[in-house]
Amino acid sequence: MQEEKIMGAISFFYKQPIDIYFEENVVEKHADVLKQAGTKAIIMTGRYSAKACGALDDVQQALTARNIKYIVFDEVENNPSTDTVEKAAGQAKEFGADFVIGIGGGSPIDAGKAVAVLCANPQMQVMDLFQNQFERALPIVAIPTTAGTGSEATQYSVLLVKDKETKLSFGSKLTLPKIALLDVRYTYSISFQSVKNTAVDAFTHCLESYLSNRSTRMSEIIAAEGIRLYGECVPYLTEYKSRTHSSEEEEKIVKEKLMLMSLLGGMAIQITGVTLVHGMGYCYTFFNQIPHGQANGFLVGDYLTYIQESAGEKLKKAMEMMQYTEIKDIKEDIEIMLGKAPAVDSETAKKYTELTMIQKGSISNTVRPTAREDIEKLWNQAGRNQTKEEQK
Ligand code: NAP
Ligand code: FE
Repeated sequence: MQEEKIMGAISFFYKQPIDIYFEENVVEKHADVLKQAGTKAIIMTGRYSAKACGALDDVQQALTARNIKYIVFDEVENNPSTDTVEKAAGQAKEFGADFVIGIGGGSPIDAGKAVAVLCANPQMQVMDLFQNQFERALPIVAIPTTAGTGSEATQYSVLLVKDKETKLSFGSKLTLPKIALLDVRYTYSISFQSVKNTAVDAFTHCLESYLSNRSTRMSEIIAAEGIRLYGECVPYLTEYKSRTHSSEEEEKIVKEKLMLMSLLGGMAIQITGVTLVHGMGYCYTFFNQIPHGQANGFLVGDYLTYIQESAGEKLKKAMEMMQYTEIKDIKEDIEIMLGKAPAVDSETAKKYTELTMIQKGSISNTVRPTAREDIEKLWNQAGRNQTKEEQK
């Protein structure tokens, strides 16, 4: 996870401790690995999708066949709250779970990471998670059903903290999943709008990581392939080619690319963390109920303009990888996918700025040194078409 950056020399430490399996029917084919995780599982899911996409069924069958006991906690909401993980951890402790399986989008997987820590440290209160000072966690198995967060490959758990009016994250090498099982078939049931939202989340992970202050040679290699895959998927995501004309086979190829991009994005931010786009996006999600990926998409165009000078050649390279020459084209394509960002008034911009300032890591990872005034300016610009002068 931690790599050292030495200017002018290639030098890094890279460790990928997650067993990652990526193929169709992955649970059926590789379920024996679940025996390495434990004997009693709590399965974390959302309300419907884990059942609808077939993943829950596959996992239940695999566990039963191997005599692994389990309970299902299916109350994880979008943007899971600390209250929800507290409730799930209570049930897991009562059951005596010795490992956690998160099936779903980022929300159930992230909630599962929190449960893994709270169960292994019964004295901990939920808010202690954010101190990141635990020394134990139950093993985590992650089975993504969206192609967006890459949570199956990161240590991060992002939780909604209602009284702080934002999302906070925690994570250490102990919250990296032990096993990740990726099956593109689980993503087939996602609505096209959610495919686009989550794809843009994965794209921003790759791009933010590539341009991050903390990027290393290794993280760049991983992120670059994700950026390239995004470029390949843009025609599908923007519906330039009518989706009704794409065959089932074509659709599957794109969905596999999206799932791989998502995994790569996770692997990249595992090393570098995210930057200002994510740090700001949480406000759109908390106050405007905008899905996570869409919130990031609304901000990424202005962010690129904002960091353009500091990012220099590296940004040009990233744009070349996805065959763009102008930032405005990236922004326009995302608008086609996700719609236009809501503008915020100046009072709201002030409030969002204060809340963005809490996201210290995202700010310090941003390649352009960023002060409160810069963030407020970005919030005042959000959702507005600016002149070239205003963009500077
Ligand atoms: P999500 O919040 O997990 O799920 C969004 C919606 O999609 C839910 O209503 C869910 O339904 C549905 N859904 C999930 N899989 C589906 C499928 N296969 N078919 C149909 N519907 C499906 O979405 P997400 O974008 O994957 O995760 C977002 C969360 O992850 C945010 O909290 C974000 O902050 C976090 N995040 C974490 C990381 C990380 O590194 N850990 C990185 C980026 C973002 P159900 O409710 O019925 O399941
Ligand atoms: Fe994200």
